[in-house]
Amino acid sequence: MRPLLAAMMLTCLSATPRTACARWKPRQQAQGAVNAGHLKNASRLHNTRYVRLRFPVNAWGTRRMVDLIQQCAKEVKKRHKGAHKLVVGDLSRRRGGPLPPHAGHQNGREADIGFYMRSGKALAGLWKVGAYHIDARRTLTLVNCLVSSGEVLGLFLQRALQAPLVREAKRRKWKASRISRMFSYPRGRNVRRGLMQHRGGHNNHIHVRLRCAKHERNCRNRPVARRHALRAKRRRKRPKRRRRARHRGVRRSRYR
Ligand SMILES: [Zn+2]
Repeated sequence: MRPLLAAMMLTCLSATPRTACARWKPRQQAQGAVNAGHLKNASRLHNTRYVRLRFPVNAWGTRRMVDLIQQCAKEVKKRHKGAHKLVVGDLSRRRGGPLPPHAGHQNGREADIGFYMRSGKALAGLWKVGAYHIDARRTLTLVNCLVSSGEVLGLFLQRALQAPLVREAKRRKWKASRISRMFSYPRGRNVRRGLMQHRGGHNNHIHVRLRCAKHERNCRNRPVARRHALRAKRRRKRPKRRRRARHRGVRRSRYR
């Protein structure tokens, strides 16, 4: 997107009549929160020389998300010869909304991306891997590319799998403060510091979350608190008092 955007901005700056520029506006895409939102005017991520999609039907996101994944996968291939394609899992549905089994992935600002493997061959899917199997050099280049865009709000990856990336960052002589800002490792699992944090279940992919764009006025960076979401859901499901009294003797099913 960037060369295109830059070209458009340059055209706008140099164009004499202002009307043409006034008409061009970035479009609102992400609406609401990642766990309670939807997507408008979605952009689609495609299979390319750099990216292989796991579920093309769920490969819709905001323009920034789609471009960022393509650009960073391209960057890795450029810097490390022989890098395999980046395996990408779910982004969002075309119009966003709930995407089970994820709690998030609802408004095109989240994506699940795979690792570069030491074997030099891409996995067929987002499979569980051990720290030893990750190609830390290529994967760190990818992560660094994502983060240096300034668009990333957070990354989730299990603590043990952050270790090879931290080792690689030290090998590249990153400053301690930079490593500390980037990774929650070696802090504990519950520590919510660093851009990349531990979350259970993230042992087969890196979960990327982007911040809302300035022009996306109906977008919120903070997810909706789970207890509020649950409370609202329960309130909707609760039967009226009279009906509940009538069925008091009936045992409730666990699977309502
Ligand atoms: Zn995810």
